Amino acid sequence: MYETNEKRPVLSDRITALAESQTIAMAKKARELTAQGYDMINLSFGEPDFQTPQYIKDAAKKAIDDGFTFYTPVPGYPELRQAIVDKFKRDNNLDYKPENIVVSTGAKQSIANAVMCLVNPGDEVIIVSPYWVSYEEIVKLAEGVPVPVQGSLENDYKITADQLENAITSNTKLVMYSSPCNPTGAVFNEEELLAIARVLQKHPQVYVIADEIYEYINFEGQHASLAAFDFIKDRVITVNGFSKGYAMTGWRVGYLAAHKDIAAACDKMQSQITSGTCSIAQKAATAALQGGKESALEMTEAYRRRRDLVLALMAEIPGFKTSVPDGAFYVFPDVSYYFGKRYDDKVINSADDLSMYLLTDAHVALVSGEAFGAPQSIRFSYAITDEKLEEALHRIKSSLAKLQ
Ligand code: PMP
Ligand code: GLU
Repeated sequence: MYETNEKRPVLSDRITALAESQTIAMAKKARELTAQGYDMINLSFGEPDFQTPQYIKDAAKKAIDDGFTFYTPVPGYPELRQAIVDKFKRDNNLDYKPENIVVSTGAKQSIANAVMCLVNPGDEVIIVSPYWVSYEEIVKLAEGVPVPVQGSLENDYKITADQLENAITSNTKLVMYSSPCNPTGAVFNEEELLAIARVLQKHPQVYVIADEIYEYINFEGQHASLAAFDFIKDRVITVNGFSKGYAMTGWRVGYLAAHKDIAAACDKMQSQITSGTCSIAQKAATAALQGGKESALEMTEAYRRRRDLVLALMAEIPGFKTSVPDGAFYVFPDVSYYFGKRYDDKVINSADDLSMYLLTDAHVALVSGEAFGAPQSIRFSYAITDEKLEEALHRIKSSLAKLQ
């Protein structure tokens, strides 16, 4: 309690406690250094370097000409929600109705909606770790308690069903994971998800956010969805979006599929915070889905080639230990070999220190693993040309060779 107005801080405790998104912070730093004239290579941002496919851009131009300039229904145009229902059937063999679908201003908002609608203060949220930076902060905003459960490098950073079982308590409300995973590229297969679903079956108070935004960027086999197991489907919130598969980061369209009561709650949350997302972007997103996934699969072939290139170049760098990512566009090596080494008067004590060193010495922007719950690692985004990747890895190797 404050006795006088003077003693009150301007900003709320909520925002003061919130960490800045490290992916966005590092990308900002790289842009600033580029503006100052440095020859930067930015491997920090998780953003496709491809243009949005032309047929999607054409649909957006048509939407403007056709007069789609008004407020949209909060959970999305009926046509887009239907296209999403059709997509779930076509790609995932999942049966939903439009009432189960809420379209948002990006998958980030879908995740925030779901967390805000499910988590009460003090509820525990199990976050499969390493995890995407925003999960933990969104949980804290909802006054939930993040409980990271660490996947090991030996198990390609995937947690096991036993680990999940051991982490669940009577306070657990939610589990969150991405597959393919940002930052590790790990992909849960059907068998692994079934084992997880069987654990969840025993705990009917636990819900799951399954973040499938990298679904199309999968190099091995078929994408598996947790919601495909009927016995827990009503407790799974499947999140997806257009940013990655269709290279539509700036358009800001994401969506979730959930039990109709949870979907209605997310609709209500969104009605007070942002309303329906952009009319033109929704028309573009509808065209994207109706056009199938061919363009997405073409981009995925390029990512696969780049993954192989990065792994081959990384194998020449002493001390980097990495899993082979099966999806997304990240490699997440353990770099702890370099902790304790020095250059001039600088000592590298952490992944934060190493990523700052590489930013200033090699002019390559990467994101430290700290914010992903993995302080031994650094994230490389390889959504960039082969030439830039080769140059970046070459520079990193030279900079690391100077450390003693
Ligand atoms: N989930 C994961 C795992 C991500 O990497 C991202 C990054 N874009 C998002 C969700 C959010 O995507 P968007 O808001 O652009 O749809
Ligand atoms: N998801 C991307 C990343 O991890 C984009 C930045 C963000 O939204 O955090 O880099």
